[in-house]
Amino acid sequence: MTRPLINDLSRAELAAWCEGQGEQKFRADQIRKWIFGKRVNDFDAMTDISAPLRKTLAESFDLFSSRIAAHQKSQDGTEKLLLELHDGERVECVLMREDDRRTICLSTQVGCGMGCVFCASGLLGFTRNLSTGEILEQVLRLDRLLPPLERITNVVVMGMGEPLANLPNLLKALAALEDKGGLGMSMRRVTISTVGLPDKIRELARTGKSYNLAISLHAPENQLRNQLVPVNDRIGVEAIMEAADEFFETTGRRVTYEYVVLREKNDGIEQAQQLAQLLYGRNAHVNLIPMNAVTELPFNDPGAERLRQFVDALERSGIVATVRKRKGADIDAACGQLRLRHEQPVAASYSPSAAK
Ligand code: SF4
Repeated sequence: MTRPLINDLSRAELAAWCEGQGEQKFRADQIRKWIFGKRVNDFDAMTDISAPLRKTLAESFDLFSSRIAAHQKSQDGTEKLLLELHDGERVECVLMREDDRRTICLSTQVGCGMGCVFCASGLLGFTRNLSTGEILEQVLRLDRLLPPLERITNVVVMGMGEPLANLPNLLKALAALEDKGGLGMSMRRVTISTVGLPDKIRELARTGKSYNLAISLHAPENQLRNQLVPVNDRIGVEAIMEAADEFFETTGRRVTYEYVVLREKNDGIEQAQQLAQLLYGRNAHVNLIPMNAVTELPFNDPGAERLRQFVDALERSGIVATVRKRKGADIDAACGQLRLRHEQPVAASYSPSAAK
């Protein structure tokens, strides 16, 4: 029988729990500091907490609810964990090292219901939302891969799942990182990626936090986007752009548009020109992501030459574009690939036609 996960509680909820035990509220920050700052894996290691309170904590909560089912290390320093949750479900999270940056990529759901046809996570469908504690557990697991003096500097919420479809749990997890006793992380260093759920984008803007918003566009017009991101059929590019503009007006934060570049699917000069037209006059940045080959999927890397032509066409129209560096190319680093490989019976039943 598992106990509640302590990190499902916010700072205020943990403080209230401490008071309920006849303790002072500030004990909550002490406990959180041990978990986030001092990386302990056991309540008993919290030496400035009284022995009776440590015992009650251990009887009341679990500090972790997952086990590491797989751990891959790339030659470029990228590390990927496959975590098995209390119910046997599995999610992925990634640590990327670049210069003095330590960026982690988090999942927010088990599977994903958005069905993007080029995505390994979408192949297995949506199972459930992750709790706040399960989102934070990925942070804790990845943080513990770093040496004592290194800290996580950036968070990208771009792993498995649609983050805005699990917004309450995600916001609570991010608040835990920012609040006293957490990692002391500025929300300016957090990027949330979405396929574009307009109401949720507005809700995110209304939080008043400085999150970065990345919209996974992948196509400049509805006909192609409906094919690549099926949920677009119910939303439409226009509604997404309207919400993105409102996000920029409310927060002053420039919006990034992610574009997975799929050979001979969305990487033509015509699409680059349409994309430039769509973004013209907007304070936008395009992040191009060459397709990371997933063997079960019928899409390919555009190749250096086609990619260069696409970038040139955007830049000629005055659109700022960067090509994302491929991290962890020698491990299953694309979203959902590691989990997919560990779910062979499902993956084996997949046929390319199902993704069209
Ligand atoms: S790309 Fe993101 S939103 Fe689309 S199916 Fe994959 S995890 Fe879901």
